[in-house]
Amino acid sequence: MSIRAKLAWTFMLLLIFGITAISSYSILFIRNYLLNEGEKQILDDSAWLSITLRNLQPDEQFETNLNELALASGYRIAVYDRQGYLFAEAPYHTDPEAPGLLDPDLAGRLSGSSLMIYKNQEDNGQLVTFTEIETDNNPAAFLRVSIYKDQIYEPIKTIRWIIYTGMFISMGLVILVSILFSRSISRPILQLEDAARKIADGNTGQTLNLDRKDEFGKLAASLNRMAEKLRSDNLELKRLNQKQRQFFADITHEIRNPLHTIAGSLEMLQAPNLKPAQRKKTLHTAQQQALRINRLFKDLVTLQRYDSDDQFIHQQPFQMEEVISLILEIYEAEAEEKGIELSARCVPVMVIGDKDKIEQVLENLVSNAIKFTGSGKITIQTAVQDGVLLTEVRDTGIGISAEHLDRLFDRFYRTDKARSRDKGGTGLGLAVVKSILDAHQSEIRVESTPDRGSVFRFILPLA
Ligand code: ATP
Ligand code: MG
Repeated sequence: MSIRAKLAWTFMLLLIFGITAISSYSILFIRNYLLNEGEKQILDDSAWLSITLRNLQPDEQFETNLNELALASGYRIAVYDRQGYLFAEAPYHTDPEAPGLLDPDLAGRLSGSSLMIYKNQEDNGQLVTFTEIETDNNPAAFLRVSIYKDQIYEPIKTIRWIIYTGMFISMGLVILVSILFSRSISRPILQLEDAARKIADGNTGQTLNLDRKDEFGKLAASLNRMAEKLRSDNLELKRLNQKQRQFFADITHEIRNPLHTIAGSLEMLQAPNLKPAQRKKTLHTAQQQALRINRLFKDLVTLQRYDSDDQFIHQQPFQMEEVISLILEIYEAEAEEKGIELSARCVPVMVIGDKDKIEQVLENLVSNAIKFTGSGKITIQTAVQDGVLLTEVRDTGIGISAEHLDRLFDRFYRTDKARSRDKGGTGLGLAVVKSILDAHQSEIRVESTPDRGSVFRFILPLA
C-alpha cells in the first residue's frame, strides 16, 4: 500500500471512529435524559390524573371523560374497582398490557395508602404507575397509568436522523479532507523518493527544490548535498581514472623508447666490422639508456612511497645554506661546461624539513634550470618572510608558456616531449619536487616568461 493510501486510511478510520463514538454517545445520553424526564412526568401526571378521576361522575359521560383525559395527557389509563376488576380503559381498549384483574398483592399494598407504585417494565417496554383513587363519587378504586417507552423516545428519531445526516456529511468531508491532506503530506515524500531514485540511477545533475522549512526541506537539502558530493566524487574518480590511464601509457612509452635504443645498439655491436670508436659510442648509448630506465624506476618508487606513506619524511632543523652550497658544488662543472653562471645568495638561517629530500628538490630544480638554459645565469636565492624561508631558483632559459603551467607538476608531463627526452628527461623531476613539498605541507610555485626564463619558489618554516 502506498504511503499516501496509508495516511488517508489512517485519517479516515480515526475520524470515522471518533465521529461514530461521539454520535453513539450523544444518542445514548439523549435516551437516558428522555427516560428520566418521562419518569418524572408520568409520576406528576399520574398524581394529577388520580385527583381528576376522584371528581368524575359515574354517569354515561364517565367513559367519554376518561377518554378525553387519556387523549389530553397522552397516557393509557385503566381504572379498576375495589375488587380489582378492570372496568374502564382509555383510549378505548387499546392497551393489551393492562391486566383484567389487578394483582391482589398490589391492590393490597395500595389500599388505604397514598402510595404510588412505579414500574419500568422491560418485558413490555412500558412505564407504569399504580395509585389508589379515594373517592365515593364513582366506583373507580385503582388507577393504572402507562406509556410505551418508545413514545418517550419518539424525539430521538428526529435527533438520530439529524445526527446520522451530520455524521455522513462529516464522514464525506473527512474522506475528502484526508485524501487532500494525505496528498499534501505525501507529495514531498514522493518527490524525495523520486529524487533519491534518480540519484541512485546515477543522475546526480538535478537539484530538488521543495521550498519548505520543515524536515522535508532539510531532507531535500541533504539529498542535494549528497548529489553534489557524488557529482564531484564522480568527476574526481573520472579524472583519477584518466590520469591513471595516462600514467600507465606514459610509463610504457618511456620504457619502450630506451629499450628500443638498447636493442638497436646490441644489434649494431654484433656487426663484425665495427670500428672501435663506433663500438665505444654504441656501448655508451646503450649504457645511458639503461641508466635512464633505472632512474625512471627510482623516481617512480619515490613517488609511490610519497603517495602511500606519510611518515616518509623526517623533519628536523637544518641549515639551508649548507644544502645550497652542496648543490652548487654538484652542478658547478656542468654549468661551466654550458657557459652558464651559477651563483647563490643565502640568508644563514635554520629551517625545519627533511634535509635530504629538500636537497633532492633543489637538485631537480637546478638540473632543470641548467637543462633548459642555453647560456645565461642561474641564481639560487633565499629570503626570510613572515616566519618562513623563501627559496627560489631563477634561470634565464627558454621559459615555459602559460598553457603548460597547470600541468607542469604532473607525472611525465613535459612541455616539449621530444626535446626533453633528448636531454634524457622522463618528466618525473617536478612531480617528485611537488610530492616532497606536499609532504612538508608546502607547495611549489612557478613564474615563467617564454624565452626569458623561469623562477621556481617554495617556502619552509624557520626553526
Ligand atoms: P626529469 O626531471 O625526470 O629528468 P624533465 O626534466 O623533463 O625530466 P621535469 O623536471 O618534471 O621533467 O620537468 C617537466 C618539464 O617542465 C620539462 O620537460 C620542461 O619542459 C619543463 N621545465 C622544467 N623546468 C624548466 C625550466 N627551468 N625552464 C623551462 N622549462 C622547464
Ligand atoms: Mg627535471
